[in-house]
Amino acid sequence: MNFRITVFFLVAFFSLTVIAQDGHGRHFAIPDADGYFSLKCDFHIHTVFSDGLVWPKLRVMEAWNEGLDVIAITDHLEYRPFKDEISGDHNTSYDIASKANNYGIILIKGGEITRKMPPGHSNALFLKDNNLLDTPEWNDVFEEASKQEAFIFWTHPGWKAQQPDTMLWFEEHSKLLQEGKIHGIEIVNYKEYYPQAFQWALDKNLTIMGNSDIHGSVFQEFDIAFGEHRPITLVFACEKSSEGVRDALFDGRTAVIFNGKIFGKREWVDHLFHACVEVEPDLSSAKENSGSIFLTNKSDLGFELTPGKEAEKYGMIYHIDLPAHSTIKLTASGKRDKVFNSGQIFVFGVDNIFDAPDQTLQVKLKF
Ligand code: ZN
Repeated sequence: MNFRITVFFLVAFFSLTVIAQDGHGRHFAIPDADGYFSLKCDFHIHTVFSDGLVWPKLRVMEAWNEGLDVIAITDHLEYRPFKDEISGDHNTSYDIASKANNYGIILIKGGEITRKMPPGHSNALFLKDNNLLDTPEWNDVFEEASKQEAFIFWTHPGWKAQQPDTMLWFEEHSKLLQEGKIHGIEIVNYKEYYPQAFQWALDKNLTIMGNSDIHGSVFQEFDIAFGEHRPITLVFACEKSSEGVRDALFDGRTAVIFNGKIFGKREWVDHLFHACVEVEPDLSSAKENSGSIFLTNKSDLGFELTPGKEAEKYGMIYHIDLPAHSTIKLTASGKRDKVFNSGQIFVFGVDNIFDAPDQTLQVKLKF
């Protein structure tokens, strides 16, 4: 009897577990802050409607399972190797994904303009009719995308197949930039990071993007079960909607998460750090000539900090680990001629956040 009850509860427990997994997806915590939603996005995804290996509905399910808020399926407009087996036009993958979207994912209509270098490949987002971009001259494609008020970004600008020896910015890109037909650039694509593209984004004020460019299934190409993620473009949007994402992209409010590192313009990576990390004084341990603060990381991202020169003079000499969902205590103490005053501000470098190639973000923490 007891055995039967046990078996019953075990079966019930496992059924619930399965339902729970099916009902919630994975949670990927990046707190909202200061009136901005922190939206996790992937703006570069393929399906069988170009050279991807999966059906559009699976892209929506994968995104939900990985805790993403926004995706754009961006099938190649000029390259459809399965078109003899799979009918449909350049809008079909979006339409199928859209009908299958019972997951609350914000789905953005897009396509990849697939041309030889220059200008190479670019994604156009927020398109109205992809079929109108199916035209021989690359100039005309950009013209049509502009007419549809698309957000356009250069994809994998350092892709070896198109930039074999060195990474070049061509005249064609300058022309597109002048005409307002290029708004962003991928500094991360799939498993590659392009420091040169990061520098271009800063110099030319392009929106910083990092996307998966996934062709196979996400679970086959990334070790999701062990916490690995596809590259993610974080978007700081005033509203959780397609319009909100659009405004944020045109305004450059992004950061890129890739392999435990974060890249972006200073204003937005600083915003991200402070959205994730709460700083509180430790009043209980306040003493004369020393003071402590608690740092609480409310996010699923880990951070590593290095005390600046001034902090070192107050005894903070070690490298600091601030793992996801942890609280740590930092203590500053004045020695010899160094008098500690409460309210003193110290600078720390965040080793895994970059606000320029080879330059880590400096944050100010008040004790
Ligand atoms: Zn692509």
